[in-house]
Amino acid sequence: MILIKDLKSLNEIEINELITGIGIPKFRAKQIFGWLCKGVDSFDEMSNVPKAVLEKIAEDYYISYVTVERKFVSQIDGTVKYLFRLCDDEFIESVVMKYKHGYSICVSTQVGCRMGCRFCASTIEGKKRDLTAGEILSQIFTAQKDLNIRISNIVLMGMGEPLDNYDNTLKFLELVSGESGLNIGMRHISLSTCGVVDKIKKLEQLKLQLTLSISLHAPNDEIRDMIMPINKKWRVNELIEACKSYINTTGRRISFEYAMIKDVNDSDDCAKQLIKLLSGMICHVNLIPANQVHKDKFERPDTKRVYEFEKILNSGGINATVRRTLGADINASCGQLKGKK
Ligand code: SAH
Repeated sequence: MILIKDLKSLNEIEINELITGIGIPKFRAKQIFGWLCKGVDSFDEMSNVPKAVLEKIAEDYYISYVTVERKFVSQIDGTVKYLFRLCDDEFIESVVMKYKHGYSICVSTQVGCRMGCRFCASTIEGKKRDLTAGEILSQIFTAQKDLNIRISNIVLMGMGEPLDNYDNTLKFLELVSGESGLNIGMRHISLSTCGVVDKIKKLEQLKLQLTLSISLHAPNDEIRDMIMPINKKWRVNELIEACKSYINTTGRRISFEYAMIKDVNDSDDCAKQLIKLLSGMICHVNLIPANQVHKDKFERPDTKRVYEFEKILNSGGINATVRRTLGADINASCGQLKGKK
């Protein structure tokens, strides 16, 4: 499994090169890429391609897939949370949410995470491995098949840090937005990062039209140092400078995530510091009442405090809203994704 590669992660040009490189007629490449675009999970499904051809490819390639290990459906709002099994028996989670404008999926990019944010469940056992582009895609295909729906929006906000798996995430973005594939446009995709500044700068150069979400969670280094180890590497001002540059280059608004944690980052003073930090930027602040994943740490403030905080930001000229909670009865919210298997 380690030496052979995921066929599902290849684009059309790479499939062409592979096919002609092993002496197979070129028209087979089109057939094979066509099957991959349909989301097949095995060579057996490629019914119009001769077995000998497939066997030849399978010497160096496998086809990744995810299967539904468990499925939880919210009785409140129909949100579906999946525990998916990968082909090496690792587990990841994805969440499908229904909005007025269609279905949105929250996908994972790694098995576990090594970023160590203190309030987040995905990082508790560290990172096991990166997902391939094909495995990120498979989460969408499998959910679509299982629910008999079409997904129209994607958020890269499940387990893992997308920018810590940069190449595979970028490959996924290319494949999922491709016309012959799922054809989900960049404007329907959000990528969330805890603030891997060197990769934000790299991404900026590509001028993609996706929405970049920054998990900020604190208005200063003192608080951010306490809850997010990444802040030791890149300080708040370096992150904000990178964001300003990103907005300038791409012309896209940035979305800041701010998980509100009682007595940690929810004071009036924090709100005022946040106004100062973000003033003049084309951005939006998403306030997420923290979901408690540790028994006695990182509680959410009461609802009144959350809305007071929102009000301070808005009156200071910062566009802020409180994020609606979906799937509350199935632990589907941010930071609670962790295979209990
Ligand atoms: N690694 C990426 C994406 C995955 S986390 C990132 O950090 O952005 C998706 C979002 O959920 C992030 O904003 C993250 O900070 C937030 N989150 C994690 N744990 C949370 C919790 N317990 N309560 C609320 N939000 C949480």
